[in-house]
Amino acid sequence: MRVLVVEDEAALAQQLDDALTAAGYAVDRAGDGLRADFLMQTESYDALVLDLGLPKIDGLTLLSRWRQAGHTTPVLILTARGSWHEKVQGIDGGADDYMAKPFQVEEVLARIRALIRRAGGLASREIRAGAIVLDPRDARVTLGGIPVKLTSHEFKVLSYLMHQRDRVVSQMELTEHIYAQDFDRESNTVEVFVARLRRKLGASAIETVRGLGYRMGASS
Ligand code: CA
Repeated sequence: MRVLVVEDEAALAQQLDDALTAAGYAVDRAGDGLRADFLMQTESYDALVLDLGLPKIDGLTLLSRWRQAGHTTPVLILTARGSWHEKVQGIDGGADDYMAKPFQVEEVLARIRALIRRAGGLASREIRAGAIVLDPRDARVTLGGIPVKLTSHEFKVLSYLMHQRDRVVSQMELTEHIYAQDFDRESNTVEVFVARLRRKLGASAIETVRGLGYRMGASS
């Protein structure tokens, strides 16, 4: 799962980046509206944290521009404390949730998890695929109730496939959702991660759909 943090206060952006990275997300950052707009047009995100007061292009303008262009990525807006009209404008403008500053980072993480879960049509906190259970709250994976140790990239691949379960995910799509923008990507690494996941979770955990990509089933 990949998240874009749009925030011009450097310390706050860093804090969000650190917390989201520790929680197993690939994170990109934009410090102004122009950069955010560029990244939205060129990259693929599963959720956005969007500050409204931004240099160059403000958050509300960006949000309405993206919604008009058909971007459905869930957006959590950050508003100034007590600014009810910002909240109303933000929600009318297509935000899925909002938080007033100052906030607890833990609450941002909980809201991002909920937004991604809802976007994937998932009702419960844990995601299951057969005997595999993934808990995004603490980036934990179990197989038949036994904890499985995964590297951060293995976790990112598994998390994306489980959020998209029963759907075929191409290698390119998977690559776009597990790496931050500045990460040095190698085209064959997704295959390597999938092979390692199969060794840890069972050969049938991830199905290869020839020529199309990978799929995990709810009951696989
Ligand atoms: Ca700001």
